[in-house]
Amino acid sequence: MTLSQSTARALTDAELPFDLNVPLAKRVYWRVGGPADAVVTVGSHQALVRLQQVASKTQTPVFVLGKGSNLLISDAGIRGIVVLLKGELADTTATEGDRPQVTVGAGMPLVVLLSRAKKNGWTGLGCFAGIPGSVGGAVRMNAGSTLGETDVPLVHVDLVHRDGTPQRLTTVDLQMSYRTSHVPDGSIIATATFQTTGADADAEQAVLKTFLERRKATQPLHLPSCGSTFRNPPGDHAGRLIEVSGLKGYRVGGACVSEKHANFVVNDAPCTANDIRAVIEHVEDEVERQHGVRLQREVHFIGEWQE
Ligand SMILES: Cc1cc2nc3c(=O)[nH]c(=O)nc-3n(C[C@H](O)[C@H](O)[C@H](O)COP(=O)(O)OP(=O)(O)OC[C@H]3O[C@@H](n4cnc5c(N)ncnc54)[C@H](O)[C@@H]3O)c2cc1C
Repeated sequence: MTLSQSTARALTDAELPFDLNVPLAKRVYWRVGGPADAVVTVGSHQALVRLQQVASKTQTPVFVLGKGSNLLISDAGIRGIVVLLKGELADTTATEGDRPQVTVGAGMPLVVLLSRAKKNGWTGLGCFAGIPGSVGGAVRMNAGSTLGETDVPLVHVDLVHRDGTPQRLTTVDLQMSYRTSHVPDGSIIATATFQTTGADADAEQAVLKTFLERRKATQPLHLPSCGSTFRNPPGDHAGRLIEVSGLKGYRVGGACVSEKHANFVVNDAPCTANDIRAVIEHVEDEVERQHGVRLQREVHFIGEWQE
């Protein structure tokens, strides 16, 4: 599949360079999945507005890819345009003072944000420790851990709707809850603004260090995965339910339930998206059969799937 000629012409007229038939597997953490019809890399707010206008006028589907750490892209890949955010949409600016507000481009990796936070003494962003996503992905997923969730430091986002209209939405507007937020359909977050706390930076770094060491000891970080595959059901842990269902090590092709952490599905051999999907669906069915609980996916399935 490829882009229609009218969409390709409209992108060119809007000065939005694009690549066709782009492999995506190396851009996502599971390292599987097919190509995108087209990839457009957008480096400014104005370019993002133009992209949304072109896509909506030509009725081309658009998918914004962060770091791909919470996505299973189908083996057939993604039809339409995949957007990557770079330049000023992957940079930071901060206000003055002891507790600056930091505005961060949605394309910035959280690990880069944390390293800038350490350098500049910005505290209160520890909820991002150990999460390999981008700022946009963290807002979309309300990413977090025992150290807190994205909606705590987040003040507002600036996004661009499907028709190219910009809008600022607060944390309340986004109705953020456990691993989800209500980012309007088709809109793309350009920047997110966070409130820092002015807490003791050294004390915060010590907490993060202990937290990261514990993760390394308990998670299969040496193999491709998307972290926790399922949300924890109320009052329980998805990993516990999967383990007591006897599913650790359950395998289809190169995809298997990790022996180290049962809520991780890892790619430990040549593997396809179909293999990973088959493991996930088997886990859902088997946990429900044994315990009466239907696990809810944290990871998103994207692209064209053959049902
Ligand atoms: C080893 C490992 C450990 C992990 N640990 C954690 C953890 O502790 N806590 C946790 O919450 N998650 C964890 N994750 C999952 C993942 O890192 C988070 O969900 C992260 O927030 C996803 O960000 P991303 O940039 O990779 O998003 P992607 O996977 O690229 O995309 C996820 C969704 O966000 C959307 N999105 C991305 N950018 C934007 C944007 N600019 N505007 C609108 N929508 C956007 C995408 O379209 C997609 O729907 C882990 C993953 C791995 C691989």
